[in-house]
Amino acid sequence: MNLATWIQRHGRARPSDPALANGERVHASWAGLAATVAAGGGGLRQNLALSPGDRVAIVMHNRPEYLEAQFAIWHGGLVAVPVNARLHRDEIAYILNDSGAAVAITDVEHADDVESLIGEVASLQAVVVVGRGQQWEWLTASNPIPLVDRRPDDPAWLFYTSGTTGQPKGATLTHRNLLMQSLSYFADIDQVQSSDSVLHAAPLSHGSGMYGLPHVARGAVSVMPTSTGLDENEVAGLLGHWPGMSFFAAPTMVKRLADHDAFADADLDGLKTIIYGGAPMYLADLEHALTVFGPRLAQIYGQGETPMTITALSKADHGDRGHPRWSERLQSVGLARTDVEVRVVDDNDHELPAGEIGEVVVRGDVVMTGYWNRPDATADTLRNGWLHTGDVGSFDHDGYLTLRDRSKDLIISGGMNIYPREVEEALLRHPHVGAAAVVGRADEEWGEAVVAFVVADGTEAPPPGELDQVCLDHIARYKRPKEYRFVDTLPTNNYGKVLKRELRERLRVDGADS
Ligand code: AMP
Repeated sequence: MNLATWIQRHGRARPSDPALANGERVHASWAGLAATVAAGGGGLRQNLALSPGDRVAIVMHNRPEYLEAQFAIWHGGLVAVPVNARLHRDEIAYILNDSGAAVAITDVEHADDVESLIGEVASLQAVVVVGRGQQWEWLTASNPIPLVDRRPDDPAWLFYTSGTTGQPKGATLTHRNLLMQSLSYFADIDQVQSSDSVLHAAPLSHGSGMYGLPHVARGAVSVMPTSTGLDENEVAGLLGHWPGMSFFAAPTMVKRLADHDAFADADLDGLKTIIYGGAPMYLADLEHALTVFGPRLAQIYGQGETPMTITALSKADHGDRGHPRWSERLQSVGLARTDVEVRVVDDNDHELPAGEIGEVVVRGDVVMTGYWNRPDATADTLRNGWLHTGDVGSFDHDGYLTLRDRSKDLIISGGMNIYPREVEEALLRHPHVGAAAVVGRADEEWGEAVVAFVVADGTEAPPPGELDQVCLDHIARYKRPKEYRFVDTLPTNNYGKVLKRELRERLRVDGADS
């Protein structure tokens, strides 16, 4: 099964329906996309002399050619390496090197960086720049080739994890993995019709690209914002244009949208589902988003290693305000997805009962085959047939999973486990706390001491005494931060996740200086 089969199928079944759009403008019909993909696959194989299994990197902001490239790569039996377009040149170099990419398809904005890597990245033979000198048009005007057969376990996508905890590694996702994640979208999140649309306001190299797949499978139109990212007014406008619209957004993006005037009185009839996840969404923000968007939100919990598929909190759960545990459920990440088994285990990999906290492990056909060229890291992560997520959580008696933290973020102070997320949730209840990140600092007396980095919401930093009080009101005394540090912003990676290791490093350096 080659995922690019979907494109050829829709090309035949609904040739003149829109497949790809740039804002409100149709960029390609299904027949047009099928032709581009077959010719692009031919160009990569014949003009650039690639063989099945070779890696082709995509370093581009979201634009219609992104999906053309991705499916052309698959059509030709090659492996896509979608690279986060906001990375630094050296980080891009790292991924191209690690994946052994032979070709990179890029846009004008990244062309200088990527072209400068020829010679430096030994495997890199050619760079194709979309939007410059008709290079993409040249490639996609090649002789079309028939779809190249792929086995279910052949790699399709090397997903470089965003690396909040270390150097990026390429999770090897096969055609089967991506097929399973697409099918489980229909099982757990939504049905998709060919009259629907999917908006790519978040990077295609991450969740948006993953959740785009079920939409392609069903023949919905993929819409690229002309801003190439999240522009609140543009999103509001596109909602009125393309019917049945869904999109993936990180929690920070959902918050931005919900806070924006553009949606205060927008017509939301065209909005089907906002799929959010990838990082915790705090309760107050979620409640506000539900007020603005109604029960059109579905939360997913996943990671690159099991492409965005571990648990989900359905739209129905979001809308079930009358349920006695509604608030609790909103703070959970929902129920195990249909195509996976999910357990919480102790340090010896023994399953823990409901209510007990341990590491979340996952098994199923959506789970990666391993990390690209990293047998040790693979063996460490895929132990006994289970993917060890590094996330810490517990199930309740109804089967809803609540995440406490990344295991590496756990703070142990005076022998007590403290999950930073609970402390952050407490601090965010203070009306003048805009954002908070809690980490541990080495401490002679306690082993580790809790330190909160706080971004004030407003001009004045809230007095530490008030922050203490809000913690005392909601969490155990020992979890209260020993120190508050007020900062203008929190360091985040390119997908908006707070870089706790950077905060810990700041504390370490300060500790060494003093
Ligand atoms: P990545 O592979 O870069 O998408 O990162 C995956 C990690 O993001 C997971 O292991 C979790 O720690 C975190 N994550 C993903 N989804 C959620 C969610 N819904 N709530 C809280 N954290 C999440």
